[in-house]
Amino acid sequence: MPQSSQPLDLGPAASRRGFLAHAASLGAAAAIGTAFMPRPLAAEELTSAEWDAVHRDPTTPAEALKQLEDGNRRFVAGRPIAPHRDMARLKAIAPRQSPFAAFLGCADSRVPIEIVFDQGFGDVFVSRIAGNIAVAEQIASLEFGTAVLGAKVLYVLGHSACGAVSATMNGTEVPGQISALYFHIRPATRGAGGNLDKAIAANVREQALRLRDGSTVISKLVKEEKLIVAGGVYDLNTGAVTPVALDAA
Ligand SMILES: [Zn+2]
Repeated sequence: MPQSSQPLDLGPAASRRGFLAHAASLGAAAAIGTAFMPRPLAAEELTSAEWDAVHRDPTTPAEALKQLEDGNRRFVAGRPIAPHRDMARLKAIAPRQSPFAAFLGCADSRVPIEIVFDQGFGDVFVSRIAGNIAVAEQIASLEFGTAVLGAKVLYVLGHSACGAVSATMNGTEVPGQISALYFHIRPATRGAGGNLDKAIAANVREQALRLRDGSTVISKLVKEEKLIVAGGVYDLNTGAVTPVALDAA
Protein backbone atom coordinates (compact mmCIF):
# COMPACT_ATOMS: atom_id res chain seq x y z
CA MET A 1 0.00 0.00 0.00
CA PRO A 2 1.69 3.25 -1.05
CA GLN A 3 1.99 5.74 1.77
CA SER A 4 0.57 8.56 -0.29
CA SER A 5 -2.85 6.92 -0.24
CA GLN A 6 -3.05 7.31 3.53
CA PRO A 7 -5.14 10.36 4.38
CA LEU A 8 -3.45 13.05 6.43
CA ASP A 9 -5.66 14.86 8.89
CA LEU A 10 -5.12 18.53 8.11
CA GLY A 11 -8.09 20.00 9.92
CA PRO A 12 -7.29 23.23 11.75
CA ALA A 13 -6.94 21.64 15.19
CA ALA A 14 -4.98 18.64 14.01
CA SER A 15 -2.78 20.23 11.38
CA ARG A 16 0.30 20.40 13.57
CA ARG A 17 -0.14 16.80 14.73
CA GLY A 18 -0.60 15.66 11.14
CA PHE A 19 2.49 17.55 10.15
CA LEU A 20 4.59 15.92 12.87
CA ALA A 21 3.35 12.42 11.98
CA HIS A 22 4.13 13.26 8.38
CA ALA A 23 7.68 14.32 9.27
CA ALA A 24 8.20 11.03 11.12
CA SER A 25 7.02 8.99 8.14
CA LEU A 26 9.36 10.93 5.87
CA GLY A 27 12.24 9.98 8.15
CA ALA A 28 11.31 6.30 7.94
CA ALA A 29 11.09 6.48 4.16
CA ALA A 30 14.49 8.13 3.96
CA ALA A 31 16.04 5.27 5.91
CA ILE A 32 15.15 2.80 3.15
CA GLY A 33 16.12 5.22 0.35
CA THR A 34 17.35 3.91 -2.99
CA ALA A 35 20.91 4.23 -4.23
CA PHE A 36 19.84 5.81 -7.52
CA MET A 37 17.30 8.37 -8.60
CA PRO A 38 14.32 6.26 -9.68
CA ARG A 39 12.53 6.90 -12.94
CA PRO A 40 9.04 8.39 -12.56
CA LEU A 41 6.21 5.87 -12.29
CA ALA A 42 4.24 5.27 -15.46
CA ALA A 43 0.51 5.98 -15.50
CA GLU A 44 -0.33 2.27 -15.45
CA GLU A 45 1.80 1.76 -12.31
CA LEU A 46 -0.31 4.21 -10.29
CA THR A 47 -3.38 3.42 -8.25
CA SER A 48 -6.36 5.49 -9.37
CA ALA A 49 -6.17 7.36 -6.04
CA GLU A 50 -2.54 8.30 -6.75
CA TRP A 51 -3.41 9.43 -10.26
CA ASP A 52 -6.36 11.49 -9.08
CA ALA A 53 -4.37 13.06 -6.26
CA VAL A 54 -1.81 14.66 -8.56
CA HIS A 55 -4.03 15.48 -11.52
CA ARG A 56 -6.75 17.28 -9.59
CA ASP A 57 -6.27 20.92 -8.68
CA PRO A 58 -6.46 21.49 -4.93
CA THR A 59 -9.49 23.60 -4.03
CA THR A 60 -8.52 24.61 -0.49
CA PRO A 61 -5.29 25.74 1.21
CA ALA A 62 -5.25 22.54 3.29
CA GLU A 63 -5.51 20.41 0.13
CA ALA A 64 -2.73 22.45 -1.49
CA LEU A 65 -0.44 21.90 1.49
CA LYS A 66 -1.24 18.18 1.49
CA GLN A 67 -0.41 17.99 -2.22
CA LEU A 68 3.07 19.33 -1.45
CA GLU A 69 3.54 16.97 1.52
CA ASP A 70 2.45 14.00 -0.57
CA GLY A 71 4.80 15.03 -3.38
CA ASN A 72 7.82 15.23 -1.09
CA ARG A 73 6.87 11.89 0.45
CA ARG A 74 6.77 10.28 -3.01
CA PHE A 75 10.15 11.82 -3.86
CA VAL A 76 11.77 10.55 -0.65
CA ALA A 77 10.19 7.10 -0.97
CA GLY A 78 11.54 6.72 -4.51
CA ARG A 79 8.03 6.76 -6.06
CA PRO A 80 7.95 10.07 -7.95
CA ILE A 81 5.12 10.48 -10.43
CA ALA A 82 6.58 13.58 -12.15
CA PRO A 83 3.09 14.83 -13.02
CA HIS A 84 2.37 17.52 -15.59
CA ARG A 85 5.62 17.13 -17.51
CA ASP A 86 4.33 16.41 -20.99
CA MET A 87 3.64 18.55 -24.06
CA ALA A 88 -0.11 18.33 -23.49
CA ARG A 89 0.26 20.03 -20.12
CA LEU A 90 2.64 22.60 -21.56
CA LYS A 91 0.13 23.56 -24.23
CA ALA A 92 -2.85 23.48 -21.85
CA ILE A 93 -1.34 26.09 -19.55
CA ALA A 94 0.35 28.24 -22.21
CA PRO A 95 -2.52 30.79 -22.30
CA ARG A 96 -2.87 31.07 -18.54
CA GLN A 97 -1.15 29.87 -15.36
CA SER A 98 -2.85 29.08 -12.07
CA PRO A 99 -0.24 27.47 -9.79
CA PHE A 100 -1.65 25.98 -6.58
CA ALA A 101 1.46 26.81 -4.52
CA ALA A 102 3.99 29.64 -4.29
CA PHE A 103 7.50 29.25 -2.92
CA LEU A 104 10.27 31.34 -1.47
CA GLY A 105 13.32 29.08 -1.69
CA CYS A 106 17.11 29.31 -1.57
CA ALA A 107 18.99 29.67 -4.87
CA ASP A 108 21.10 26.62 -3.93
CA SER A 109 21.39 24.30 -6.96
CA ARG A 110 20.71 21.26 -4.76
CA VAL A 111 17.14 22.28 -3.93
CA PRO A 112 15.05 22.24 -7.13
CA ILE A 113 11.52 22.86 -5.88
CA GLU A 114 9.58 21.06 -8.64
CA ILE A 115 11.64 17.88 -8.23
CA VAL A 116 11.72 17.92 -4.41
CA PHE A 117 7.92 18.21 -4.24
CA ASP A 118 7.26 16.02 -7.32
CA GLN A 119 5.34 18.65 -9.29
CA GLY A 120 5.38 19.78 -12.91
CA PHE A 121 4.68 22.62 -15.33
CA GLY A 122 2.27 25.22 -13.98
CA ASP A 123 1.99 23.73 -10.48
CA VAL A 124 4.32 25.92 -8.42
CA PHE A 125 5.23 29.61 -8.63
CA VAL A 126 8.81 29.83 -7.39
CA SER A 127 10.94 32.72 -6.23
CA ARG A 128 14.48 31.72 -5.31
CA ILE A 129 17.23 33.81 -3.75
CA ALA A 130 20.29 32.94 -1.65
CA GLY A 131 19.18 32.46 1.95
CA ASN A 132 15.46 32.45 0.97
CA ILE A 133 15.10 36.02 2.19
CA ALA A 134 11.87 37.98 1.90
CA VAL A 135 13.17 41.25 0.43
CA ALA A 136 10.91 43.71 -1.38
CA GLU A 137 11.17 42.21 -4.87
CA GLN A 138 10.58 38.70 -3.53
CA ILE A 139 7.54 39.88 -1.60
CA ALA A 140 6.27 41.56 -4.78
CA SER A 141 6.67 38.34 -6.77
CA LEU A 142 4.90 36.29 -4.12
CA GLU A 143 2.07 38.80 -3.77
CA PHE A 144 1.59 38.31 -7.51
CA GLY A 145 1.74 34.51 -7.20
CA THR A 146 -0.89 34.46 -4.46
CA ALA A 147 -3.21 37.47 -4.89
CA VAL A 148 -3.22 37.49 -8.71
CA LEU A 149 -2.45 33.90 -9.73
CA GLY A 150 -4.30 32.33 -6.81
CA ALA A 151 -1.72 30.08 -5.11
CA LYS A 152 -3.33 28.60 -2.00
CA VAL A 153 -0.19 27.83 -0.04
CA LEU A 154 2.87 30.04 0.31
CA TYR A 155 5.82 27.93 1.40
CA VAL A 156 9.22 29.15 2.62
CA LEU A 157 11.81 26.43 2.10
CA GLY A 158 15.21 26.55 3.77
CA HIS A 159 17.73 23.71 3.59
CA SER A 160 20.42 22.03 5.66
CA ALA A 161 23.97 23.41 5.42
CA CYS A 162 22.76 26.66 3.82
CA GLY A 163 25.87 28.65 2.88
CA ALA A 164 24.11 32.01 3.14
CA VAL A 165 22.98 31.37 6.72
CA SER A 166 26.31 29.85 7.70
CA ALA A 167 28.29 32.80 6.25
CA THR A 168 26.02 35.27 8.03
CA MET A 169 26.47 33.46 11.33
CA ASN A 170 30.25 33.40 10.97
CA GLY A 171 30.55 36.90 9.49
CA THR A 172 32.57 35.39 6.65
CA GLU A 173 34.39 37.91 4.45
CA VAL A 174 33.01 37.60 0.91
CA PRO A 175 33.73 39.43 -2.35
CA GLY A 176 31.53 42.02 -4.06
CA GLN A 177 28.01 42.53 -2.80
CA ILE A 178 27.45 39.03 -1.38
CA SER A 179 27.40 40.32 2.19
CA ALA A 180 24.28 42.35 1.34
CA LEU A 181 22.45 39.11 2.17
CA TYR A 182 23.70 39.15 5.77
CA PHE A 183 21.53 42.06 6.84
CA HIS A 184 18.37 40.09 6.08
CA ILE A 185 19.52 36.83 7.70
CA ARG A 186 21.12 38.27 10.85
CA PRO A 187 17.90 38.48 12.92
CA ALA A 188 17.66 34.67 12.58
CA THR A 189 21.29 33.89 13.43
CA ARG A 190 21.38 36.19 16.45
CA GLY A 191 19.44 33.90 18.78
CA ALA A 192 20.84 30.62 17.45
CA GLY A 193 23.88 30.41 19.75
CA GLY A 194 26.13 29.29 16.90
CA ASN A 195 23.89 26.31 16.03
CA LEU A 196 23.52 26.29 12.23
CA ASP A 197 20.45 24.02 12.12
CA LYS A 198 18.71 26.25 14.64
CA ALA A 199 19.62 29.36 12.62
CA ILE A 200 18.32 27.80 9.39
CA ALA A 201 14.95 26.96 10.98
CA ALA A 202 14.80 30.42 12.59
CA ASN A 203 15.50 31.99 9.19
CA VAL A 204 12.60 30.09 7.60
CA ARG A 205 10.33 31.32 10.40
CA GLU A 206 11.63 34.90 10.17
CA GLN A 207 11.15 35.13 6.39
CA ALA A 208 7.74 33.42 6.49
CA LEU A 209 6.51 35.85 9.13
CA ARG A 210 7.80 38.78 7.09
CA LEU A 211 5.63 37.54 4.25
CA ARG A 212 2.62 36.57 6.33
CA ASP A 213 2.52 39.55 8.67
CA GLY A 214 4.55 42.15 6.75
CA SER A 215 2.61 42.10 3.48
CA THR A 216 -0.90 43.52 3.75
CA VAL A 217 -1.86 41.62 0.59
CA ILE A 218 -0.72 38.27 1.95
CA SER A 219 -2.05 38.79 5.48
CA LYS A 220 -5.45 39.66 4.00
CA LEU A 221 -5.53 36.39 2.03
CA VAL A 222 -4.58 34.46 5.17
CA LYS A 223 -7.29 36.20 7.17
CA GLU A 224 -9.84 35.33 4.47
CA GLU A 225 -8.66 31.67 4.66
CA LYS A 226 -7.69 31.71 0.99
CA LEU A 227 -4.02 31.11 1.79
CA ILE A 228 -1.83 29.19 4.25
CA VAL A 229 1.74 30.37 4.89
CA ALA A 230 3.99 27.46 5.87
CA GLY A 231 7.68 26.71 6.16
CA GLY A 232 10.08 23.80 6.18
CA VAL A 233 13.71 22.74 5.95
CA TYR A 234 14.94 20.42 3.19
CA ASP A 235 17.60 17.87 4.15
CA LEU A 236 20.31 17.72 1.48
CA ASN A 237 21.14 14.12 2.42
CA THR A 238 17.70 12.53 2.55
CA GLY A 239 15.52 14.77 0.36
CA ALA A 240 12.99 15.05 3.18
CA VAL A 241 11.33 18.32 4.16
CA THR A 242 10.73 18.85 7.88
CA PRO A 243 8.06 21.45 8.72
CA VAL A 244 8.97 24.51 10.77
CA ALA A 245 6.29 25.86 13.13
CA LEU A 246 5.88 29.56 12.43
CA ASP A 247 4.35 30.60 15.72
CA ALA A 248 6.07 29.91 19.03
CA ALA A 249 4.37 27.11 20.99
ZN1 LIG B 1 21.02 28.08 0.88
